[in-house]
Parts: sequence; C-alpha cells; structure tokens
Amino acid sequence: MKKALIESVEYSIVVGEGFLMVKFIFITGGVLSSVGKGIVTSSVGKMLQVRGFDVTAIKIDPYVNVDAGTMNPYMHGEVYVTEDGGETDLDLGWYERFLDIDLPKENNITTGQVYRTVIDKERRGDYLGRCVQIIPHITDEIKRRIRKVAERSNVDVVLTECGGTVGDIEGLPFLEAIRQMRLEEGFENTLYIHVALVPILDVTGEMKTKPLQHSVNELRRIGIQPDIIVARCRKMITKEVLEKIALFGTIPKEAVFCSYNVPTIYKVPLILDEQGMGDYVCRRLNLPNRSPRWGGWRSFVNSVENPKYTVKIALVGKYAGLADSYVSMNEALRHGGAACNTRVLIDYIEAETFEENPEKINTLKGYDGIFVPYGFGPRGTEGKIMAIQFARENDIPFLGICYGFQLAIVEFARNVCNLKEANSTEISQDTPHPVIYLMPRQRGLKYKGATMRLGAHKVIIKKGTLAYKLYKRSEIYERHRHRWEVNPKYWKILEEHGAVFSGKSPDRRRIEIMELPDRFFFFASQFHGEFKSRPGRPEPEYYGFVKACLDKKLGKKRPEF
Ligand code: GLN
Repeated sequence: MKKALIESVEYSIVVGEGFLMVKFIFITGGVLSSVGKGIVTSSVGKMLQVRGFDVTAIKIDPYVNVDAGTMNPYMHGEVYVTEDGGETDLDLGWYERFLDIDLPKENNITTGQVYRTVIDKERRGDYLGRCVQIIPHITDEIKRRIRKVAERSNVDVVLTECGGTVGDIEGLPFLEAIRQMRLEEGFENTLYIHVALVPILDVTGEMKTKPLQHSVNELRRIGIQPDIIVARCRKMITKEVLEKIALFGTIPKEAVFCSYNVPTIYKVPLILDEQGMGDYVCRRLNLPNRSPRWGGWRSFVNSVENPKYTVKIALVGKYAGLADSYVSMNEALRHGGAACNTRVLIDYIEAETFEENPEKINTLKGYDGIFVPYGFGPRGTEGKIMAIQFARENDIPFLGICYGFQLAIVEFARNVCNLKEANSTEISQDTPHPVIYLMPRQRGLKYKGATMRLGAHKVIIKKGTLAYKLYKRSEIYERHRHRWEVNPKYWKILEEHGAVFSGKSPDRRRIEIMELPDRFFFFASQFHGEFKSRPGRPEPEYYGFVKACLDKKLGKKRPEF
C-alpha cells in the first residue's frame, strides 16, 4: 500500500501534514462518446500496476440519474453490479477486469448524487445565509467525492474518467472541478489525458485530425491543457499525423499515443506501453522508475489470440441488438474459453424471433451451447423458454443467469412437472402456478432505485453436485440483482422430478443454483457469476459451461472439469 510513493525520497520531502500523497490522472474524451476512454483508463491503470503501483479508478457519469440501475441497458449498455451492491456504469466492469480489484460503488460519481448531497445540505441549513452555486458548492462536492475515494482506497494513483464528450453541457461542472484539482494538488501530482477519435476517410484513406484538434481546443477553452493525447484510430497513426497532433495540441511528440484496433481489447495496455506511455506517465508524475512486469498479462493475451478450438454459443436474449448490454457476460464467456484453449463465438438472438416463427427454434441445433442471460419484463420470455426447452430436450449444454435461471425453473415446471401455465408473476400475475414469485421484502416497495436484492451474498454449495465440482468449495460469494425468486411452495415437486438445488442462501430460504444431473451440462444460477470473472481467473459457472460445450463438441461422454 502506497509503498511506492513513500519510497520516492523526493516525493516524501514535499509531503505535508494532511496531504493525501496520491497522484491523480484525469481522462477526458473528444469527438464522440464510446471512443474507448474506459479501455484507455483501464490500460493506464494496468501499466502502473505492472510497475508495482497501487491504483484505483473512478467513473464520472454526468447524467442526472443517481445511479445506472434505473436505466435501460438498450440505451446505456449493461448495468454493472459491484460487490457492495452498487448499480453502476459498465466501465467499472472494465476497471475491475483489467485491474483485478473490487471497486466500491462510491467509485461511480453521477450528477444525481452530487446534487442530491448539496441539496440535502442546503435543506439542513449547512449553507445558511449563502447562495448555493455550481461553483464552488457543486464543484467542491465533486472534488470531495474524488478525494474520498483516494483516502479510502489508500492507493498511489487515482484514475478518474470523465464520461461523455468534452463540450457536453452536463459535463462542465466536472471538468471545472478537475481543472481546479491541478491548482490544489500541484502540477506533478495531476495529469490530464485526452482521448479522441482520428477518423480515416473511406475515399482517400486519409487520417483526419481536425475533429481531435477541435476537441482539444474545447478542453483548453475550459482551462485544461492536456498533458497526453491518445488518438483512437482504426490503424496506427503515421508519424506525420502524430507530429501534427503534438503541434496543434501543444504537447511533446512523446506525449502522443495511438490506441488502434486490436483483435482483443486486453492487448490495448500492451500496445500503448510499447509506444512508451507507461514510462511517460511515470516520468511526468515523478513516480519512481520501474520496469513493467507484463508476464502474466501477456500470456493471457496470447491464450485469447491463438486458441486451438472454437465453440459457437447462442445467446438468446432481449437486448440482442446492443452487445454492450451483455458485456460482462461476453467477457466471462471469453475468459472461460481462454482457460480451455477455446475461442467463443457468440450469436445474439432476439428471443422474440422464436415466438414469431416457432420453426426457427431448430436453428439452435447448430450451436455448441445455449445461453439465456439476465432480463426484465415479459417481452421475449416465451421465446427464451422455448430455447431452454430445446436445450434440455436436445441435451445441448445450457447456462442460465438470473432471469435465465428463473425461466429454466418455469420451463421445467411446465414441461417436466406438468404444471401447465406455470410462470413467474413478473410475466403473469394470475398464473395458477407462480413458481417464481416476488420476494416478500420486495412487496409494497415505493421506490424503484437501488431496491433490488443487490451485491454479493453468500451461497452454500451442496457436496457431490456439479456446482461443487465447479466451485470446489461449500461457500461462495456471488453478486445479485433481482426482485423475484423461486417460490418455496414448489421446491418439492421440482426436486421430485429431478431438479437439483445445489446452491442455497445460508438461511436455506432461497434457491441460488439449479442443475439437471441427467443432462450433459444444464446449470442455472440466480446470481451473476460474470461480475466476478477476470482474465486468467474465469468464474466457475462460465468456465464449466464453455468447457462442457467444447467437450460435447469433441464427443466426450461427460464434461471433464
Ligand atoms: N427480472 C428478474 C428479477 O427481477 C431477473 C433479474 C435479472 O435477470 N437480473 O428477479
């Protein structure tokens, strides 16, 4: 913990009483959103980590929502769930995967949270007699939140990514706050990295820097001169383009880097470090000079790049049009694949297609595995249930997560236990067999925000089951996000027909895992294993599923874990 900075003699001399002794890196974005700031932020963190520094990362989201939990994944991508039950932006997932750390929910700061605190203080009378303003009250609250993360995490470097694009109205107070932080923390303790797109014109093949130049100008207008520019481009930028960016950005040529397209996102820190970015960041922040240890990361990247086998998985969902809706699930499947030398190809299938054209269900025959992810509301559920039935009856490896788990219970109740019209009360209020029902403590809740069963909870695993084989222990902690659960009234009949409930809550009142031992691999969990999956350390249910898909494809009698 913070050894790195203490070791630095020069640094400890300037450290005063009450000084945080931490370096701050701020990442902004230009030209358009989704330009890859999250990956650049994670990559800079990784470059520092492999040099022995402790880091943490914050995501600022300038929207007014208090958290991401009330947003549709179709608009904003998946809602990421932290260990402490935060419903956050998906970039926290990238930070956790790249840096292999668990982040608390306070690492996602939104306009909603900032204003809520300031307005509460105003009502309490904390500012009595004063006019409450964006500067200094809102900006002070933003800085307080960033510093609180620095203090609590006790790291060497705090990375703060500012969501959206420079020039957005709602982002202005955040940029103003980070501008002020340079004055307060000092030049060598702060660093601004600007990430912007360099498009290539189809017709001429030319790399165009003008939009990037404009976004740098916009940043300067606000009072921030970037220290580093990362050009996001399809290809490595040419020397001329790099020089032009440096000239117009008023920064040295050594401070311009390029994040170009690579076959795997996990390679980005390697390509940036090869260009000298890690050393430059350390030099500029006056951090002790250390050589990076990329060994483990590089071997993971190699295992992703050159796998021996391939499996094809059908993801039958409701937000199939936007891959970002399932980003942690995609990554967890890939981590599982990397661990068994396998490339995982995922086809995103809208569940409603099977409702509209029931014969299309047979296309699922062409897949090595069927995956039904999380979800909310009735749309597409019958199609998902059809896919689960198809997997079970044709013995195609199946993994169901959260809603996928609940619908696997519904399918089993209907088609195996003969409980016709069994359903979840989320889909049908007046089903004769509510096998999935609203958790008692969810009833009568007035507020929708942050009221699901959230975050990490203990799960007890039954010995002698597939779950035990996969997890190899009798207690695990997994992350949750749900309101409905398996109705205890139906446990007995489901078990009598062959369902095994191999994971339960410690009080034995909740079912967490269902498996069907007479199938090659049929496994479903109420929790979301994907949030804990890491490169090189896949989460067992995802690893088990991909391995089973591969083993089945290779003609094995049973999966070999
Ligand atoms: N809609 C279901 C529930 O709220 C499942 C949620 C999910 O898949 N995350 O319980």
